[in-house]
Amino acid sequence: MSKKVRVRFAPSPTGGLHLGGVRTVLYNYLFARQHGGDFVLRIEDTDQARFVEGAEQYIMDCLKWCGLEPDESPEKGGPFAPYRQSERKHLYYEYAQKLIDSGHAYYAFDTTEEIEKMRNTYGNDDHKAQYDETTRGYMRNSISLPPDEVVKLLENGTPYVVRIKMPVNQTIRLTDMIRGEVTFDSSLVDDKVLLKADGMPTYHLAVVVDDYLMQITHAFRGEEWLPSAPVHVLLWEYLGWKEHMPLWAHLPLILKPDGNGKLSKRDGDRLGFPVFAMNWTDPKTGEITKGFREMGFMPQAFVNMLALLGWNPGVEKEIFTLDELIMAFSIERVHKGGAKFDFEKAKWFNNQYIHHADNETLAKLAMPYIEDGLKNTGINSRAYDSRLMTYDYLQRVVGLVKDRCTLLPDFWAQAHFFFVTPETIDVAAIKDKWNDQKQQFFSNWAAALEALPEWNEQAIEASCNEHALQAGLKKGDVMLPLRIMLVGGKYGPGVFIIADMIGKEETIKRIKAVHL
Ligand code: GLU
Repeated sequence: MSKKVRVRFAPSPTGGLHLGGVRTVLYNYLFARQHGGDFVLRIEDTDQARFVEGAEQYIMDCLKWCGLEPDESPEKGGPFAPYRQSERKHLYYEYAQKLIDSGHAYYAFDTTEEIEKMRNTYGNDDHKAQYDETTRGYMRNSISLPPDEVVKLLENGTPYVVRIKMPVNQTIRLTDMIRGEVTFDSSLVDDKVLLKADGMPTYHLAVVVDDYLMQITHAFRGEEWLPSAPVHVLLWEYLGWKEHMPLWAHLPLILKPDGNGKLSKRDGDRLGFPVFAMNWTDPKTGEITKGFREMGFMPQAFVNMLALLGWNPGVEKEIFTLDELIMAFSIERVHKGGAKFDFEKAKWFNNQYIHHADNETLAKLAMPYIEDGLKNTGINSRAYDSRLMTYDYLQRVVGLVKDRCTLLPDFWAQAHFFFVTPETIDVAAIKDKWNDQKQQFFSNWAAALEALPEWNEQAIEASCNEHALQAGLKKGDVMLPLRIMLVGGKYGPGVFIIADMIGKEETIKRIKAVHL
């Protein structure tokens, strides 16, 4: 019987969640759902120096917002708890000891200064400046020092780290689900620290031990982890677990829009688009980095866009619901090469999702932006009629303007005139063609509107046509001025439906307010 599929997302809580991280979550999630497996969230917080307050909660909130919730996590618990590596600290020592006993790892007593000195000896040659077969012989460790001295140092409580002893000239092989067979020359990899002086494991030891203990069957992670893979493969082997090693998939990088290198937070700041899933506030500096959520993306659109950033569905179709993605996803169709991020395309996805969303859903999403807009309009901030803030009204409004909205804040920009009298009127747009005849028409028509027995789109339009005819004007002559009066600018849905929606009193007030 084949093993139950178990995958994991294993972030270190060091800051905002990059869209590449969310894509890793997504591919994990899709794979787990497709195979009826489990999706685990494990927090890799063993590096105390990089730990950032609030980052774990933020990661969990991002997953919630995206609708990609794990089956097991620090918050939810699960059969393999705890899911926070700092709470599993006591587990790792035993495995480090096992590696020492079998000769695959050793104690190293070097101070930071001694390591620094060794590195400096090699000048700028990074490749040579590493703790490995060449250097370990003269550094202070349990391989170079006589056994009795090692015992003494240990008994005296001398601080030490445990390092893996990398073999020399060995080809380490890994079959990656995306890249096929990948080989590494063991001589090029340094003796990585496995256990730190504070007793905490490093990422390398903890990731292997936890993937084993948590029975992970497939491990998807970013391409940037590929150089660490040989260390992990050896640890699986040295710990006697090789047959349980998960199948690896190293996901392609997400590249800058011009394809030149990995997309970073700084690129987002520079080019004016978000790189994080949600706003991230640095707890130390208070600096806020913008997120897709706050920019006004719908999570479904964000997730759909990410799915295609590195995965080719093999069909023309681009819009996929999460359920469709679960059906269609295949790790074999994930590219090897990096995927260029295209913000315009990301916005296109959002526009499509807004366009196809039902008005009820959109009303809920647009509501905070409408409320904020009202708050910010100062003197005009009071919706002039409480009727206009009902849910029913809001649903009709979003239905009328949704095709013009790409990001959720657009709902205020495109619909504010349904709620408040426009603050600025683009009179320049109509000034050239303005004349007494038009002025006369609008004052007559405004008076006639007072007496209009029924107030609806058809009745208002019919009355407008009739009065334009009487004034010797064509309907086309009065449409733009009417739009400018009601909306403030040259945009928005049909003018008569706007008049219908904002009501008789407000329509007449706006017509009368404009004098050229
Ligand atoms: N803790 C690593 C990270 O922060 C996880 C890498 C892996 O999935 O093995 O991304």
